[in-house]
Amino acid sequence: MEIVAVPAFTDNYIWLVHDRESGETAVVDPGDAAPVLAEASRRGWTIGQVWNTHWHPDHTGGNVAIKQANGARVSGPAAENIPASDVALKEGDEVRLGRHVGRVMEVPGHTSGHIALVFDEDGVAFVGDTLFAMGCGRLFEGSPEQMYRSLQRLAALPGDTRLYCAHEYTLANARFAAHAEPENRAIADRLAEVAALRDAGQITLPTTVAQERETNPFVRSTNVEEFARRRAAKDSFGS
Ligand code: ZN
Ligand code: FE
Repeated sequence: MEIVAVPAFTDNYIWLVHDRESGETAVVDPGDAAPVLAEASRRGWTIGQVWNTHWHPDHTGGNVAIKQANGARVSGPAAENIPASDVALKEGDEVRLGRHVGRVMEVPGHTSGHIALVFDEDGVAFVGDTLFAMGCGRLFEGSPEQMYRSLQRLAALPGDTRLYCAHEYTLANARFAAHAEPENRAIADRLAEVAALRDAGQITLPTTVAQERETNPFVRSTNVEEFARRRAAKDSFGS
């Protein structure tokens, strides 16, 4: 499974996923069609599927145009209004790309129907706006309880699982993480690494479950109250 980041808007990443064996290609959360179609055609790939993690326009805005261009099948969370949707996904359902199988995990919190796609055999998960490197999504629709549980479920995946998040928020998250856990050496080290990557104009993703267990103050919260306090503090943290 080959995974390519397509930057969009100011800080979104749209993930193009290609299986060489079958020649199939999918795209995760295409907020904008143009950069995705351009990158796919540059590589000689045809997008056969769109996978959405949640309804927000910066994740679904390109659905209609990609479907029109390539006849792609659109799959997204059953509990949300997804433009041009063909397949409604629920907990335990599967998406397939060639022989690669992604299982649907419902991870509400950012939105109430948000899903993640977990490719267990590939050690890959697409997590949308639920978990970010060193951070997590804002609680627009869900409760702290829901988001806390969603993060705990993702953090329980094998440590080497690569997490593909939908935004480049790592540097701002790292600054907050250092403020939330000033004694955490792994956070301080990662803040320096991430700052250097961003200075060089480089991507900081994917992250891994193991890294998040060490450096993500939301994943590391020991109970819902601590999580809620940190989430509220992050909302008002200047970065
Ligand atoms: Zn969102
Ligand atoms: Fe987003």
